[in-house]
Amino acid sequence: MGQPRLEEGKRYRLRTRTGLELVGTVLPRYELYDRDHVTLKLDNGYNVGIRLDNIVSIEEAPPKPPAGLTELRVEAPPEDPRLPRVIILGTGGTIASKVDYETGGVKPTLTVRDILEAVPEIAGIARLETEVLYNIFSEDMEPRHWGELAEKVAALLRDDPQRGVIIAHGTDTMALTASALSFALRGLPVPVALVGAQRSSDRPSSDSAFNLVAAALYATGDIGEVAVVMHGETGDTYALAHRGTRVRKMHTSRRDAFQSIDSLPLARIYPHEKRLEKIRPDARGLEDPSKLEAYPRFSEDVVLLKFYPGMKPGFIDYLADQGVRGIVLEGTGLGHVANKLIPHIRRASERGVVFVMTSQCLFGQVNMNVYSTGRRLIEAGVVGGEDMLPETAYVKLSWLLANTRGPEEARSLIPRNLVGEIEERRTLDLYPRWNHG
Ligand code: GLU
Repeated sequence: MGQPRLEEGKRYRLRTRTGLELVGTVLPRYELYDRDHVTLKLDNGYNVGIRLDNIVSIEEAPPKPPAGLTELRVEAPPEDPRLPRVIILGTGGTIASKVDYETGGVKPTLTVRDILEAVPEIAGIARLETEVLYNIFSEDMEPRHWGELAEKVAALLRDDPQRGVIIAHGTDTMALTASALSFALRGLPVPVALVGAQRSSDRPSSDSAFNLVAAALYATGDIGEVAVVMHGETGDTYALAHRGTRVRKMHTSRRDAFQSIDSLPLARIYPHEKRLEKIRPDARGLEDPSKLEAYPRFSEDVVLLKFYPGMKPGFIDYLADQGVRGIVLEGTGLGHVANKLIPHIRRASERGVVFVMTSQCLFGQVNMNVYSTGRRLIEAGVVGGEDMLPETAYVKLSWLLANTRGPEEARSLIPRNLVGEIEERRTLDLYPRWNHG
């Protein structure tokens, strides 16, 4: 057979000389790819390259049936006036996009129609509106995006305080955005849910639909907090709503990658039963709309620095010379760094740089009073970050340096719990153990 004609974006059934039968959609050919191959996106989401001279037969195949949680489907009119309203803001990431077979790129799918087509069960929970703010990977988010997002949510809530908010976000830095919004938005009249997907919607194992339904249930509930809503276990039974300041992505690919660290989630959500069960008795309720306050500014002059054996003390001098105003140290154990760094930390601190100590252990509390290294760090000007996650301390310091009168006030607010970032009562041992015995 000569050069077979295969059109980009079309679905085919191909047979190869080696006896394989492959069904998939033809992806565009990039300049870098060689002319002798075609790339097919198979229905399981994987891409395969096939040598053209290995193809013995080509048949056009019907379009792929839509993926989704068919068993969750509930038939409800798209515009049921009795249902609460929810706005979904798209920022990017897997959840907010689908593969565009014409260009091979990923494009945002956040029209109401696209979402209802992909996740029809949402129509039985809320009346939807959507808006695409960004279409970026979450590793490209910056503090300025947190500020813009907080301003946007505040403006939406001032316009209509009855409309729940869902933010579709890439998973990599979703926890930091959740933390940022927790500091920036106070007195919420509706819940704010951040939601993502670990597996893209063109893979049968996608978690997009399940997570979106769970987020819609959270956004129409009565918890007045910013939460990350994602799968709670690897099956399809429940999702968890994690407090924005205590959550962390703990696995590169598992659906239940998000965990509340040394802390309890706010709620467990059963999408199939359309039920939300509160876990934390201290979950804040919804506030009167007049109580809403927004502080959407973040300093971009803050650094999160993980200590490691061998760290050069000149780093600290360099950062101070660059005009950095705050450094969150992710130290060892109870909150330590090498003693040889301490004179450099003291000098930077005297120049006005705020230092906060957190721990690489993630579980437990920083305590710099136990060992002499810790005491020397305190004396050099380092403030203990209590049990805050390093990333949360980074967001908090960035927020404090933009919203307080200066380093002294920022320092004094570091150990004070503002929005649930520091646990006030530790009644349970939440440390994970292999046997939970
Ligand atoms: N790095 C991407 C992001 O965080 C991964 C895709 C995703 O998790 O949605 O945006």
